[in-house]
Amino acid sequence: VSAFFVVTPLADQKAFAERILAHWTRGPGAGHIPDRRQALETVVVIDAVADAVATVAGREGQRPRVVATCARPRERALGYPALRAAIGEGQPFLLLFGTAWGLAPEVLDNADEVLAPIQGAAGYNHLSVRSAVAIVLDRLLGRADGPF
Ligand code: SAM
Repeated sequence: VSAFFVVTPLADQKAFAERILAHWTRGPGAGHIPDRRQALETVVVIDAVADAVATVAGREGQRPRVVATCARPRERALGYPALRAAIGEGQPFLLLFGTAWGLAPEVLDNADEVLAPIQGAAGYNHLSVRSAVAIVLDRLLGRADGPF
């Protein structure tokens, strides 16, 4: 991924995120774990989803399609193969993941697409956000050839 947006309007959350980022990108952590510095240099702390959309549009020269995610099945859900193919065609996408209680209904309703939920073998599918991000990114961008 080319950018990772941490979206919150809360000043104390933004300050906290910026403190962590400063440690790992410019502070003592930067030299300690260079790989982590490289990863965290992609992080942008921003007030709103609309600002993230504008930032991507400015960088990519076109508005990204906004794809929200949630554990609850919805009528109109985008499948992973279709999204993987669309990404392969070079169009920019902004994937939205929630924290706490998940993405607000209006965020889901306003997204261009909602990705089909990750369904495990059992019925439980409320994943931690880091697990959901890892699975979704592997399905969309991970290697699909060979024994992987
Ligand atoms: N408190 C939790 C934590 O610390 O990770 C956050 C829960 S939040 C609801 C988890 C987010 O991960 C959801 O908003 C959604 O974006 C994504 N997610 C969780 N389960 C998912 C699933 N089964 N399919 C797709 N996305 C899922």
